[in-house]
Amino acid sequence: MNMELLHEGKSKQIFATDNPARVIIRFKDDATAFYNIKRAKIENKGKMNCAISSLLLGYLNENGIATHFVEQTDDHSQLCRVVEHVAIEVIVRNVIAGSMAKRLGLEEGIVPENTIFDICLRDAELGDPLINDHHAVAMGIVSYEELETIYRTSAKINALLTELYRKAGITLVDFKIEFGRDEEGRMVLADELTPDTCRLWDIETGDRLDKDRFRRDLGRVREAYEEVANRLRDALK
Ligand code: UDP
Repeated sequence: MNMELLHEGKSKQIFATDNPARVIIRFKDDATAFYNIKRAKIENKGKMNCAISSLLLGYLNENGIATHFVEQTDDHSQLCRVVEHVAIEVIVRNVIAGSMAKRLGLEEGIVPENTIFDICLRDAELGDPLINDHHAVAMGIVSYEELETIYRTSAKINALLTELYRKAGITLVDFKIEFGRDEEGRMVLADELTPDTCRLWDIETGDRLDKDRFRRDLGRVREAYEEVANRLRDALK
């Protein structure tokens, strides 16, 4: 590839294209956790994450969710719309796990009656702290109206993904998403949707099929990501 590298993150590179309104996002094999303290290369992860994210974003586009995804361009890359990123992460939780279990002293695996939406400030130096709507508005990151759109869209995304993953024999435990504003100022989903940013548990066995295999040294990381890609391909047939 001979394109200008605009940005390199932990798991992806962003390249310019001839069209200023489009970028290429390239998925890498690098895995990091705990703010870069734990690092590894996982063979095939970039390819699997690109495949999984492209399948899921394409599926959301087809089901009325505006996303930045245009098309997959090769094994590792996607063509995406340029958006102005909003500096919050939205975490949607269907099952209690991870930081929520730890923070509130709850058992992992509890299924609450409601869906839980967290918002976190995207600031690695501060450790991406949990914030609330008023903080986000006070900091000038979003308006209350935009937050309403973000929560409504996140709930729709959750319903669509939960149903698709159920068909694939997988419980969508939780996931993180980010949004951006397009040229018209509309909120669009502008993120990857991969096992790096979700918790996915096998419905039958409870087996972890996501980045927790890497974070918690459970082994078979590559196999889990390949399994998710294969099952999603089947579920979408
Ligand atoms: N997550 C993410 N990026 C972050 C924080 C969380 O992709 O910066 C994902 C994580 O993989 C999980 C969900 O969001 O699927 C909830 O994460 P949690 O708050 O439980 O944090 P963790 O336990 O991963 O530190």
